[in-house]
Amino acid sequence: MKILVLNSGSSSIKYSVFEMDELLILASGIIEKIGETQSIHQYCLADTDGKTQESTIAQLVPDHQQGLAKIIQFLQKSAVIQQASDLAAIGHRVVHGGEKFHQPTLIDKTILMELRKMIPLAPLHNPANLTGIQEAMKFAKNIPQVAVFDTAFHQSIPAHAFLYAIPKELYEQAGIRRYGFHGTSHHYVAKQAAKFLGKPLRSLNLITLHLGNGGSVTAIKQGKSVDTSMGMTPLEGLIMGTRSGDIDPAIPFYLNKNPGMSCDEINTLLNQQSGLKGICGENDMRTIHAMADTGDKSAQLAIDMYCYRIKKYIGAYCAVLGKVDALVFTGGIGENDEQIRETICAGLSFFGISIDPHKNAMTSTKIIDIKDKKSTLSVFVIPTDEELEIAMQTMMCIENSSFSQ
Ligand code: ADP
Repeated sequence: MKILVLNSGSSSIKYSVFEMDELLILASGIIEKIGETQSIHQYCLADTDGKTQESTIAQLVPDHQQGLAKIIQFLQKSAVIQQASDLAAIGHRVVHGGEKFHQPTLIDKTILMELRKMIPLAPLHNPANLTGIQEAMKFAKNIPQVAVFDTAFHQSIPAHAFLYAIPKELYEQAGIRRYGFHGTSHHYVAKQAAKFLGKPLRSLNLITLHLGNGGSVTAIKQGKSVDTSMGMTPLEGLIMGTRSGDIDPAIPFYLNKNPGMSCDEINTLLNQQSGLKGICGENDMRTIHAMADTGDKSAQLAIDMYCYRIKKYIGAYCAVLGKVDALVFTGGIGENDEQIRETICAGLSFFGISIDPHKNAMTSTKIIDIKDKKSTLSVFVIPTDEELEIAMQTMMCIENSSFSQ
């Protein structure tokens, strides 16, 4: 069974094709700069020996419709599929599913209307996700299309954790609450941790740290998300590449009054000019380490602030969960940055967390437990695979629906 996973952005389409019987990735790629004079198609194909072949082609892709057509043509030319109907389903990443969508959902006209209603909640992401879905529905009419939501895993968060202490009508009438994001990644690594421990996920309490350009931490109790650091939008919580994370909510009023910044300017400031970039001028953690190594004090401060914020959340979520079975690191920084993992875990032996420096320095494409002998809980480094998780959820969804009958 082959499943195509699509992640449509405003000027890009990311795709992956999986052979679900063996959980193998056959092809993946991205078309970027759609609508510009020269678009770029980068792809990676698995050959029969499991080796990958990578390449980049510059071509003109005027819109998402043409982008999808190019992807399907490319997959045919590369013998990944013979025709579009070889695909058992197309799984779409959708950033925001509001309170309506708790699980992967087979898309029809009614669901499309519901998805349109979610646009105000994620005005930057959901319209692009919808364009991708609509084009795929036109292109592959008889193939089931499934929406998989970043927010769905967090729908189990209880009201005392998802509500903000503002007038209740704002939740009831305008949907202002914590939704949380990166749900596909948190869920995927939680399942991998459970598999490694040989225990059902529903028996485990975990703290999962997705540390990439964006970052979030989730408290998972008996397999379900009970709190997460991102909020109504991905701006809340950890210090990220360019996002501030938690700040005093009065700062935007102050900025509005004193330098007289507009709402849009403050939005740009907090989402694109803050976080690591705001502190040291760079948002790529590798560059920040290189700067800190040459004595750049602002780079070192950015690293210290970044780790301190994560440490605070770990402490808070230990309190939320009571007993914790494992701490999980994932995302570009979580998976690759031993120094950041070491700084975060330093001094956490109070919570039973301590790591082995040799294991922490190991590089692996598979799950590793970096805890030391004293640690009472596992500390996992787990490569995330959001595309595979979307493919697995898509498969589950079509198997549970009339398409499998
Ligand atoms: P996104 O949120 O865009 O998916 P990623 O999960 O790819 O982001 O993470 C991007 C971040 O991971 C960047 O800050 C990058 O510097 C960091 N990163 C990637 N590889 C390494 C590495 N080997 N060491 C340290 N940081 C890394």
